[in-house]
Amino acid sequence: QQIWEYTSQIRDVYQQKLSVNQNNIMKVLTIIGARPQFIKAAVVSRAFTQSQHVEEIIVHTGQHFDANMSDVFFEEMCIPKPHYNLNINGLGHGAMTGQMLEKIEKVLLEEKPDWVLVYGDTNSTLAGALAAKKLHIKVAHVEAGLRSFNMTMPEEINRILTDRISDVLFCPTDKAIENLKLEGYDNIDCHIVKNGDVMQDAALFYLNRARMPQEIIPSKFVLCTVHRAENTDDEVRLKNIFYALETISEQCPVVLPLHPRTKGKLLAINYNFAKSKICFIDPVGYLEMVWLLKNCELVMTDSGGLQKEAYFFEKYCVTMRDETEWVELVEKGFNVLAGSEPTRIISSVNVMISKNKEGFENRLYGNGDAGEKILDTLLSV
Ligand code: UDP
Repeated sequence: QQIWEYTSQIRDVYQQKLSVNQNNIMKVLTIIGARPQFIKAAVVSRAFTQSQHVEEIIVHTGQHFDANMSDVFFEEMCIPKPHYNLNINGLGHGAMTGQMLEKIEKVLLEEKPDWVLVYGDTNSTLAGALAAKKLHIKVAHVEAGLRSFNMTMPEEINRILTDRISDVLFCPTDKAIENLKLEGYDNIDCHIVKNGDVMQDAALFYLNRARMPQEIIPSKFVLCTVHRAENTDDEVRLKNIFYALETISEQCPVVLPLHPRTKGKLLAINYNFAKSKICFIDPVGYLEMVWLLKNCELVMTDSGGLQKEAYFFEKYCVTMRDETEWVELVEKGFNVLAGSEPTRIISSVNVMISKNKEGFENRLYGNGDAGEKILDTLLSV
């Protein structure tokens, strides 16, 4: 097993191949369906559109479909309009993944791509990889090798299975590569490439395009998101987290773009929105999110992506989970795992909000060229 640290080696192979066959167009079929995948795909699609050697077909599974969870990202981030929208949503895991498999297979038989490109850890990721692999189409997985070691998380199951059947595994961190090695990937026929993190590319590219949200945002605020099933689907955890957020709001306003799943769960437990001190806003587009990240005092989240974005925008983070895939942020003191107990969340916020800012300049997730490295690698493997 050879691990390809992205070097001039990949670019040389790629250049040689191109000079051998100038007219060869590589057809990549990208499968996306959820908000974080749109943001990641925006980066790679931009690299693809700048290359004369790639034709990209985008398939939107429909997993996220609200305008502010889907359309806004295509518009603001100039992602090419999907060629297919499978409109699969609002189903349990089995039905959703099953329907995706069936419909993606039909598209693959029609399009016959050279590569299927999948992102992250959702049902769309797994269905795309599985449908492609069974048709002997090469699979590339962006954000490979990440592990929470919590097998009750649907995301953990999706990412382990997707990694195992991928031909190229794009790993954002050394830890991701280490995880794969511990699982025996030295003996598996695939390419493991450390290419950095496409979300770092997005943060750098959109930094100066940030847009203030339409809602009135307090001058000093904590930015918070909550949507992970382990928190929203467990009433005790959900109530504990929102009790902590209400308490923190008494000291510093908490701005919370509310995920539709969390909103549904809060309504189901008769959460008193009218009396709440939390500043709830609708989910925002990425450009508004960048503005919130640039201007907040601290990030509180259970999102995977937000933990890294806090670091990209030089903000400390309190993560309301018991474990994280982004362990380097915790090890280096940028992030703290606070679980769901109110006292622990509140004391973590107090510590992190008053901490001196240092060490953020070390680029733990690459230099913003992860998307180009994906393009070069796919053209050369
Ligand atoms: N995000 C956004 N608007 C919001 C909330 C999140 O643009 O209202 C972005 C966020 O900046 C990050 C991505 O969505 O880039 C993270 O998605 P999410 O938290 O839904 O998923 P996860 O990263 O946990 O898989």
